[in-house]
Amino acid sequence: MLTTNPFDDDKLREECGVFGILGHGSAAALTALGLHALQHRGQEAAGIVAADRDQFHSHHALGQVGDNFSAETVMAPLKGDAAIGHVRYATTGATLLRNVQPLYADFEFGGFALGHNGNLTNAYTLRKQLVRRGCLFRSTTDTEVIVHLMATSRGGTVIDRLIDALRQVEGAFSLVCIAQDTVIGVRDPYGVRPLVLGRLGDTDVICSETCALDIIGADFVRDVEPGEMVVLTRDGVQSLRPFQPQQRRFCIFEYIYFARPDSMVEGTSVYEVRKRIGRELALEFPVDADVVIPVPDSGVPAAIGYAAESGIPFELGIIRNHYVGRTFIEPTDHIRHLGVKLKHNANRRFIDGKTVILVDDSIVRGTTSKKIVDMVRRAGAREVHMRISSPPTRHSCFYGIDTPEKEKLLAHNLSVEEMRGFIEADSLAFVTIGGLYRAVGEGGRDPAKMRYCDACFTGDYPIRLTDWDDAANQVAVSSLAETAP
Ligand code: AMP
Repeated sequence: MLTTNPFDDDKLREECGVFGILGHGSAAALTALGLHALQHRGQEAAGIVAADRDQFHSHHALGQVGDNFSAETVMAPLKGDAAIGHVRYATTGATLLRNVQPLYADFEFGGFALGHNGNLTNAYTLRKQLVRRGCLFRSTTDTEVIVHLMATSRGGTVIDRLIDALRQVEGAFSLVCIAQDTVIGVRDPYGVRPLVLGRLGDTDVICSETCALDIIGADFVRDVEPGEMVVLTRDGVQSLRPFQPQQRRFCIFEYIYFARPDSMVEGTSVYEVRKRIGRELALEFPVDADVVIPVPDSGVPAAIGYAAESGIPFELGIIRNHYVGRTFIEPTDHIRHLGVKLKHNANRRFIDGKTVILVDDSIVRGTTSKKIVDMVRRAGAREVHMRISSPPTRHSCFYGIDTPEKEKLLAHNLSVEEMRGFIEADSLAFVTIGGLYRAVGEGGRDPAKMRYCDACFTGDYPIRLTDWDDAANQVAVSSLAETAP
């Protein structure tokens, strides 16, 4: 199998997007559209659960939203004026269909479905306790502990049980749930992952990013606040604050790479922040060069910012083929070797004989940068200077962004100069933490009033990593996704 994704041999993958709507005759169709807009948050699986008052209907599929949720035969049975949906980046394999969210369970109060963006950091610990108490898990997702904690809760209402369950979990969660003629959205007290409220006519909508509101023509109302639970009912939206307040720690990598550039996140345009990071990079690490070229698509806004600040012309010197699937079945080693060319090709005329500044958002393992630098040299570049619009990624994310374990991160193992040697660039520089904070509108990184999680760069993890405290658990957690039947 020829893979075009740098993370294919990793185990934990929990990048996700969520959507929920109550009170619209086309709830499932609007959910499918919303999920399509959130496809960048997870391409490997999608699911929709629709509720026709107390009748639930669902469809889950491996693959992309457009391929699985456009047929009349799939959509017509998803009846009801309430629906939630989820896109997920999951490991491949037929058995994992049962991991595709929203998860569904029957309680004595009726059906309940749940979609989760984020990652729980004590899920394995809770799972062990729940299994000892007799709970039978049917998926290998961290999210399923919430359902069992609800089942074993003594709370009187679905809301009480959900609150009871969520008070026991640690980690990052932006959730959408559907139960008892309500759609519920909840954001963890640190607000690590985004979640927004919108309105379409008389209908309330909850979703991961504003781009999912745009696609259905809904208006942005506001962000769901960290620690807030919003309950969409037939009579309007209720807001609850069931958790101990915490210092807000929104994931700064959402701005750098993960969120869509046309989304407004926490009141700020993602695109604008990326351009500002590019400007900071140009100020911090200038190069005398002929052309600024982004690694598409992730490097484009930062490269625009770099070019604007430096006055060096911007060119699309690398063209991305958008029709590359995540994997590509390949029979021979020779063709497998062509790997990177499937996705990117040098636009030779704008590179040949030039001193090039290449801009990308991050270096994880270094595979992409190494191949792109080589490609640009082969296209005749005189010098290649790599500029990265994030600080070096030295630590893994445990809160819902897919990163390899830290031993596989290039920046964990090598100094910046050694990394430069590895990718064979003439120079390599990463925006500083200070530059990044200026770009998001802070004076700098002030530990006393931190509003962001930047653990992947600093190792400063704001939420306990209970499952990783114990070495035995650590092995079990990382192999769970692979070994469970
Ligand atoms: P690598 O080749 O391992 O150094 O990966 C770096 C490339 O992967 C960059 O071009 C990024 O745009 C992209 N990238 C960074 N983080 C992620 C992520 N969490 N999921 C998928 N792609 C990513």
